Amino acid sequence: MIAAARRDLEEILGSGAVLSDPLALRLYGRDASMLEGSCELVAIPSNREQVVACVRIARRRGLAVVPRGAGTGLAGGSTPLPGSLVIVTTRLQRILEIRPEDRLAWVEPGVLNLDLKRRLAPLGLTFAPDPASEASSTIGGNVATNAGGPHCLAYGVTANHIFAVELVLADGTVQSFGGEGPEAGGYDLRGVIIGSEGTVGVITAVCVRLTALPEAVQVLMLGFATVDDAAGVVSEVIAAGLTPAAIELMDRAIVRVVEDFAHAGYPVDAEAVVLIELDGLQGGVDRQRQAVEQIARSHGATVIQAASDPAHRARLWKGRKSAHGAITRIAPDFLQYDVVVPRTRLVEALAAVRVVARDEGLIIAHIVHAGDGNLHPLIMYDRRSPGALEHVLAAGERIVRACLEMGGSISGEHGIGLEKRDFMPLMFSAADLDLNDDVRAAFDPVRTMNPGKILSDVGRSHGPAAGHAAGAAPDEAGSWRR
Ligand SMILES: Cc1cc2nc3c(=O)[nH]c(=O)nc-3n(C[C@H](O)[C@H](O)[C@H](O)COP(=O)(O)OP(=O)(O)OC[C@H]3O[C@@H](n4cnc5c(N)ncnc54)[C@H](O)[C@@H]3O)c2cc1C
Repeated sequence: MIAAARRDLEEILGSGAVLSDPLALRLYGRDASMLEGSCELVAIPSNREQVVACVRIARRRGLAVVPRGAGTGLAGGSTPLPGSLVIVTTRLQRILEIRPEDRLAWVEPGVLNLDLKRRLAPLGLTFAPDPASEASSTIGGNVATNAGGPHCLAYGVTANHIFAVELVLADGTVQSFGGEGPEAGGYDLRGVIIGSEGTVGVITAVCVRLTALPEAVQVLMLGFATVDDAAGVVSEVIAAGLTPAAIELMDRAIVRVVEDFAHAGYPVDAEAVVLIELDGLQGGVDRQRQAVEQIARSHGATVIQAASDPAHRARLWKGRKSAHGAITRIAPDFLQYDVVVPRTRLVEALAAVRVVARDEGLIIAHIVHAGDGNLHPLIMYDRRSPGALEHVLAAGERIVRACLEMGGSISGEHGIGLEKRDFMPLMFSAADLDLNDDVRAAFDPVRTMNPGKILSDVGRSHGPAAGHAAGAAPDEAGSWRR
């Protein structure tokens, strides 16, 4: 099956775009999460027609399809399960059209988020979603995970910035969903595709909304003697009706390791550092800064520093955005959880994580998209120690359950993938899960698109989904047998 599929693919793509050597299979066998998959065959098409051919070959040869962008996902979304063809879309990297007057652009899915921003900046425009991985993650991956980022507090997540998506469906047909305006009519199927994590088709083009760059930007860096003081400022800033573009919180463990690495100028003796970005018209930004400074002082801020020149702002953000890389200096491995609580329960949620860390004897550091109540506890471990990963996963589950009890959710932005799929029944009833599976089946009746992601059979009432299994092959009519 694999050998035949490889021959078919090589005929269409050429041998350089079909990988099955051990190094490539290891590389494409996982994403940036700690989940290891099983990769047997990788195709790297360069255009939509080649994607269609890959999907048709997979179907003919009885393979599932795992769409993949840059592999920076943190939930195992592009981690392949046995019997899959991984289709990498990073070579579809053309910016097809920029129409400033319509505030939209058409791009291929392999365009990197930051590359699009760089092309737009001279026009005074931007693509607002800014995952911390913006330098390496693709627009296709951002759409498929409905990525968030620091500035999504004011601007909204990726879903708020996508007009239309072109998709290659499981049978190889190409369809567009949405339109070049905010209201396309009919059911919002575009909305179903955004965040579908590769389970409904392969994205081959995206129409993105463009946003004007603000006239003025300031970043405030605040240091605090306790994490609770820092979290208190976050709540009060929002309650005061201020509208920062971003509010990020880092605890002492992150601040220290980041400062050592990125030299951002963070106060290393602070228990927590908060970055607040304000943007808009100059007068409004100045007024908001004064109000934030006053709130910070009333919560005992030990450091208040404002940065308005671009180099200083960039340095402060570089620290935050290097956190993942920097942390590897103090721990060989870390599991980053992605959970959300209502913003007003942030202090409580941070305390709950501290209890888990103490009980389990683990070091847990925090990066928090504080304005959204989106916590990223980073649990340090060393996978070479027997049982370490299981221990960390058990601690992670305790954190998830604690956040759910506070009215939170199992994912703020990284998606469900393989990592969280078995937590879905904690949030959804069997009827909800069945309905989700029915929606998925409307796009992919035989469930060959990224099977096993988002939904598993756990907690469902339908029982095992009819669908792809390794070794399955379509009959003449194109339906599947095992
Ligand atoms: C250092 C670091 C920081 C991060 N910061 C953030 C953050 O701030 N906010 C955030 O939301 N995430 C963040 N992430 C997670 C990750 O970068 C995002 O989920 C990103 O959107 C994934 O893009 P990707 O191109 O790497 O996709 P991949 O990891 O390759 O894939 C992710 C999912 O999208 C699907 N997919 C990818 N391409 C396509 C396509 N063409 N068609 C259909 N499905 C597709 C895959 O099947 C998979 O389910 C971070 C990750 C790292 C490593």
